Amino acid sequence: MGFLSVLGMAHKLVAERLSPGDTAIDGTCGNGNDTLFLAERTGRRGCVYAFDIQEQALKRTRQRLASVPHERLPELHLIHGSHAGMAAYIGQAHRNRLAAVMFNLGYLPGPGADASIITETSSTLAALEASLDLLRTGGILTVVLYPGHPGGDSEAAAVEEWAAELPSVEGQAVLYRMPQKPAAPFLLAVEKKTSRT
Ligand code: SAM
Repeated sequence: MGFLSVLGMAHKLVAERLSPGDTAIDGTCGNGNDTLFLAERTGRRGCVYAFDIQEQALKRTRQRLASVPHERLPELHLIHGSHAGMAAYIGQAHRNRLAAVMFNLGYLPGPGADASIITETSSTLAALEASLDLLRTGGILTVVLYPGHPGGDSEAAAVEEWAAELPSVEGQAVLYRMPQKPAAPFLLAVEKKTSRT
């Protein structure tokens, strides 16, 4: 039978904590798979913010969302910009309802995409900090990391170090990874414990 993939596990952990009417953020919308998942989960009374620095990714995400009947979609904000600046877009009412923030790091997969455009450690760490600030208590942050490509290895190490140093009163962090395959993608999940000031 085998274990869930890292993406499957990310969706499972988020699904357990995200309800209809909640707000969610996709920090790296790419081809729109996670945005679609968050949109279906939050439903027509919910709200989803999705960020990407590539217009091509936002276009693909729009196309992906077109498979959902309009009346079932949440309020959607597809933002052409870096996730590092997410705090500027999320109003106070949405912060109180923010139950999940998902990141899938690395480059945009698929034909016609530029694999040299990758997530960068400094903006990723800024976005993780912002996510923990914005999440409501009990909310979840998930990060899929790719140590198997140049740049992804140092980014994954920095994110793991960030999680190891996170005070456990602020968030409980877990890793889901295959020890026999150190270069394979792995998942970091953090459940927010207390409000940060
Ligand atoms: N979650 C996506 C999906 O389900 O298809 C895949 C995401 S893909 C692995 C990573 C994405 O991160 C790329 O589309 C890339 O353009 C985007 N990205 C890179 N740096 C970013 C940044 N600073 N802010 C937001 N998105 C960024």
